[in-house]
Amino acid sequence: MTNQQEPVNGIYTQIFNPLRKPLSAYNCPVCGNVGFIEKYSPTGEMYMQECSCKSIRKNLRMLDRSGLREMIKLYRLDNWQSVDEWQHTAKALAENYIAKQNGWFVAVGAKGSGKTHLCTAVASSLLAHGHDTLYVLWRNFAPRAKAAVNNCDFYNSIVSPLTKVSVLYVDDLFKMGKGEQPTVADVNLAFEILNERYLDPTKLTIISTEFNFSELLNIDEAVGSRIYERSKGYRLDFTGKPNWRLRE
Ligand SMILES: [Zn+2]
Repeated sequence: MTNQQEPVNGIYTQIFNPLRKPLSAYNCPVCGNVGFIEKYSPTGEMYMQECSCKSIRKNLRMLDRSGLREMIKLYRLDNWQSVDEWQHTAKALAENYIAKQNGWFVAVGAKGSGKTHLCTAVASSLLAHGHDTLYVLWRNFAPRAKAAVNNCDFYNSIVSPLTKVSVLYVDDLFKMGKGEQPTVADVNLAFEILNERYLDPTKLTIISTEFNFSELLNIDEAVGSRIYERSKGYRLDFTGKPNWRLRE
């Protein structure tokens, strides 16, 4: 026995592997960070098959751009504090959602209640399952999209990834600048994205927001009702829960 790690890929890859640059910080045990797996046809012909880590790397790049990579390090399921009963329940709900991968996971409640922690943990778990995942912070995304509304191509380039991606995590939906309320343009933007995802049940959507469900319905019934309906079984209401940042 030696300490050397067993090569995970085939002979060609072992030869050429040292010539390649590492693909990213992600360490793939399947292909040894080559991005391809050597396969052989029944006649013995070698061919390369793209490794499943490609989508993981793609997502990591997206996460890098979005800034979620740092959040993932901070907010994990294994460092979620389950002291009180509601915290056990919240974690169990998150684990159940990750296992089922169905519907929308929605956490509402005040800042610091833990909703971003749990939503980030859920998003990163789905990412680890190989889902294309996109993270947007509403207060950064919405002004950019609204400013581009008269430039059709640019607008679509901003908005359509959110409608198409397998897993979308919208953080702090409808959170505006201090003293501001969501406008008609915000509601239209949210509806455009969420309605498209609502119509395709295979799409997973994670939402955190400081507005509770009746407030969401008050902001817009069409948006609020879709969020409510799709999140059946996976609604977390952190309203009135202690602020964890103050307890730390
Ligand atoms: Zn790989």
